Amino acid sequence: MADPTPLPLRPSGDRAASPSEEAADQRVAPLIERLIRELGEDPGRPGLADTPARVARSLRFLLSGYETSVADVVNGAVFAEPYEEMVLVRDIEVYSLCEHHLMPFFGKAHVAYLPRGRIVGLSKLPRIVEVFARRLQVQERLTTQIAGALDEVLQPYGSAVVIEASHLCMMMRGVEKQNSRAVTSALTGAFQRDPKCRGEFLDLLGRT
Ligand code: ZN
Repeated sequence: MADPTPLPLRPSGDRAASPSEEAADQRVAPLIERLIRELGEDPGRPGLADTPARVARSLRFLLSGYETSVADVVNGAVFAEPYEEMVLVRDIEVYSLCEHHLMPFFGKAHVAYLPRGRIVGLSKLPRIVEVFARRLQVQERLTTQIAGALDEVLQPYGSAVVIEASHLCMMMRGVEKQNSRAVTSALTGAFQRDPKCRGEFLDLLGRT
């Protein structure tokens, strides 16, 4: 009986790599092999044989935010709409890489805006989060970049972003605090100026 055709390895079941992405992977993989060797391991042993190529593909996916933009992901999904009450999408899963240690930090983002005649497709808010999360990041900058992107795309009365995240660089090394979470916020426009608006946002976040 013939062997089954092996399934192609792809990051997160994503589309196949383009020729330029494949070329990039081929440049990165030998660097990973070298790293494995410098760390005292044998990159030739069976368990590690495919690791350099796999890590190259994985990093390409985890850092794919460099290859895209807010305009790309919004893709025209901005609609004129007289709705002027708060829009909040909460508990958006966030996975990013800390730029200081290249270790993951992960948690939840809560993203809100107060529309001024324009709304964006709700599914676009998590996509905007991903554009910035899939880069080397610090949580603080990630938070302000998301709020800034909403301001740019929608020119709303204001934007508000809160991210709560656990950082593996704090949990596995350094202070080794397994249960601490970092909370960052970025508030613009009415969320910054108007205590009532900010209060409504925080009130909505407080509900489970
Ligand atoms: Zn770190």
